[in-house]
Amino acid sequence: IWSEAIQGLQPRLGAQTYDLWIRPLELRQVQGQRLLLTAPNRFMKEWFENHYRDVVLDELRARTAQDFHIEIQVSAAAETSPNAAPAPAESQATPEPVPPLPPLPALPPIGLSSRYRFSNFIKGSSNELAASAAWSVAQDPGARFNPFFIYGGVGLGKTHLLHAIGHHIHVARPHLRIVYQSAERFMNEFISAVRFNQFDQFRARYRQDCDVLLIDDIQFIAGRDRTMDEFFHVFNALYEAEKQIVVTADRMPGDMQGMEDRLISRLNWGLVADIKAPDLETRVAILKQKADIDRIDLPDDVALHLATHVRSNVRELEGSLVRVSTFASLKNQPLTREFVSEALGVSSAPAQAAPISIESVQKVVASHFSVRIADLKGPRRHQGISRPRMIAMYLSRQLTGASFPEIGLRFGGKDHSTVINACKRIESIQSEDSELRETVAALRQLLAHEPTHAA
Ligand code: ADP
Ligand code: MG
Repeated sequence: IWSEAIQGLQPRLGAQTYDLWIRPLELRQVQGQRLLLTAPNRFMKEWFENHYRDVVLDELRARTAQDFHIEIQVSAAAETSPNAAPAPAESQATPEPVPPLPPLPALPPIGLSSRYRFSNFIKGSSNELAASAAWSVAQDPGARFNPFFIYGGVGLGKTHLLHAIGHHIHVARPHLRIVYQSAERFMNEFISAVRFNQFDQFRARYRQDCDVLLIDDIQFIAGRDRTMDEFFHVFNALYEAEKQIVVTADRMPGDMQGMEDRLISRLNWGLVADIKAPDLETRVAILKQKADIDRIDLPDDVALHLATHVRSNVRELEGSLVRVSTFASLKNQPLTREFVSEALGVSSAPAQAAPISIESVQKVVASHFSVRIADLKGPRRHQGISRPRMIAMYLSRQLTGASFPEIGLRFGGKDHSTVINACKRIESIQSEDSELRETVAALRQLLAHEPTHAA
């Protein structure tokens, strides 16, 4: 099974990754469900453990419906000479005797990935409600939010939270029977149960032998009438028995086209929480954690740079970190902003707020004082207009980096000395007039948050 499974991984991982990280591993020993592998060096061992172990375990599980346990040792040859190249596949070297394996730690229930825990889920404003509700569901399954429905775009952490709930319950209440399933697998199991006359088993698994049901990506069954019907009955049976049900989807219940109304209404019975795309701070925190776990040396400015450029979702974000750090380690270079830029094809200049234009200063000042922009640019000397005009000139000078002559030009072709005088006047008035000082400060604030500064 080992060689079959790892070959099955080739299309999943891509030939290059496969050749680089998976092929050099050798299977040394099999003890029941424990596999002992050797890696050519420590770096490859760690890389495999951090990036591919779960994928391989997944593949084995998919093929055998059993949970395996993988241990990796660095091959003896590599320990004596740390720079040894990977042994060629046809190497005939006699295997080193391997020590007996330590006792097996408790495995998570089938189907739960050990990577997805509450402890490594970063909270931010984008996922606060979903994460806290998930935590409270995990504390007290069946008692609070039932059903609990999490929705949000792809790669934002729905599956992560679902697994985290499963793990937590499993550890805190090992007697509870947890069923985790994607809606797709649920449907496939249902179909084959019907086909092979195993409906009783299917029914028992989901209705009787289940204390916590975790269903991922429920939108998949929308439009599949018989599966929806079956899920409806499963839902009712569990709900009546006060068993916890947690469901995720890519949109809210009512937005799933083709979903039965009675199911939509049930999914809305409990708590519905959404996850949004993470903000910059959360993205940085996620990157730092990922770097920590993978032992990637990620300087703060590089993390910020990556987080600024990869905004779409967390999976992308993590993927880009892995990609960039793989390149860096293959090239034997430290991870720098320039390196990230090269790998992602973006500029390495520090991210800057959009510059403020003279036009936006004029717009904001004019609307604050209820005067027309044309008046700011015009010749009128009436105080109700000349005061705002001077303030606009002053702010233009302060905030846009434009020269005095340029500002004069943009205010209807006034002389640069007019602009200089206006700036001096405003400065001196401000020093004694606290009201003006506050007005100017408020205008600055407004301009800093003005969404578009385009002319
Ligand atoms: P979804 O199911 O919403 O498509 P996943 O749960 O599969 O997304 O998340 C994609 C990846 O991003 C996973 O590796 C997951 O661990 C990670 N991830 C998502 N959100 C967070 C978070 N808030 N903190 C840490 N990792 C996260
Ligand atoms: Mg998912």
